[in-house]
Amino acid sequence: MKPAAFQYHQPSSVAEATDLLAEHEHDAELMAGNQSLGIVMANRLATPEHIVDLNGVDDLDYVDVSAERVEIGALTSHRTIETSTALADALPMFPAAAEQIAGPSVRNLGTLGGSVGEADPAGNYPAVLTALDGDLHIVSTDGERTVAASEYFIAYMFTDLGEDELITGVSIDRGPFPTERTGMVFLEQKPAAQTWPTISAAAAVRGDDPDATEPAIEDARVALANAADVPLRVEDAEAAVESEPLGEAPLASAANAASEAAEPGEEMHADAEYKEELAGEYTRRSLETAYERAVDTADTTDTTKP
Ligand SMILES: Cc1cc2nc3c(=O)[nH]c(=O)nc-3n(C[C@H](O)[C@H](O)[C@H](O)COP(=O)(O)OP(=O)(O)OC[C@H]3O[C@@H](n4cnc5c(N)ncnc54)[C@H](O)[C@@H]3O)c2cc1C
Repeated sequence: MKPAAFQYHQPSSVAEATDLLAEHEHDAELMAGNQSLGIVMANRLATPEHIVDLNGVDDLDYVDVSAERVEIGALTSHRTIETSTALADALPMFPAAAEQIAGPSVRNLGTLGGSVGEADPAGNYPAVLTALDGDLHIVSTDGERTVAASEYFIAYMFTDLGEDELITGVSIDRGPFPTERTGMVFLEQKPAAQTWPTISAAAAVRGDDPDATEPAIEDARVALANAADVPLRVEDAEAAVESEPLGEAPLASAANAASEAAEPGEEMHADAEYKEELAGEYTRRSLETAYERAVDTADTTDTTKP
């Protein structure tokens, strides 16, 4: 099937884009990489009368890493995130999440803003932003606002974003994640290559002493994708491993907490019970791997392997 007819607009600035959204508030759809929107429109699950193509808005394509913050523009492609050495040094969970999205053609065109705008609970960046307490920067003709990832994802593919708003980018405070004491990982289980994951886990662990062989965990983060209607931060799992060196008992408690917190939907290849088990197992594996990396922070290059 082909998409229904629509009027195409290509603004060259954020202001032009928000003017268009305000003018066509109930009938317009933003387009970024068109990797998801194209499928939805081709199947006539969405029939917007106006398409606002963001690809002419160069200001939205950036990766800025400072000592305090990481900022990534909405139009930044998965490929740019995957290959950014600055991100690999500062927040390696981001490139690890990007490189596991689909195949090269989707990664070359798909964008951070499209992923967060789509808000699929199986999405990689929604889980990353949830684990890292990221902020989303949003703009409309009424001005700019910032929303915490924890407030943005409300229900299944339903977010805090208004019809006249667009996401300009995301930012993450680096304060909780000093590179010399922090390990990060993004792990996923897929039924087949280049498809969406059955479950993913984004985890970060900060140890208390970079020289200790078994540091106590000062701060643990774990968020799961595709385990509920929104990205699922599992605070009980985090609490289970904090304040002591990582051991089998706290890991088992964390895994139990994640299985209990998960409220997954059924899928053709994975029923809810199986996905609850996976939620526990991937929580356990991701925390274990993040801890190993926090202990040996010299080894942060390959963030995807358990
Ligand atoms: C085969 C396949 C496998 C995939 N596997 C995965 C996977 O494993 N993990 C994963 O995370 N993703 C996966 N994806 C999705 C992929 O990441 C898409 O690229 C992404 O979800 C959409 O990005 P896009 O730039 O193409 O957005 P588009 O398709 O252009 O837009 C998607 C939605 O976001 C909105 N939007 C776009 N930009 C903005 C903005 N700046 N502000 C607000 N709203 C905006 C659009 O209006 C639209 O509703 C997969 C896609 C395919 C086709």
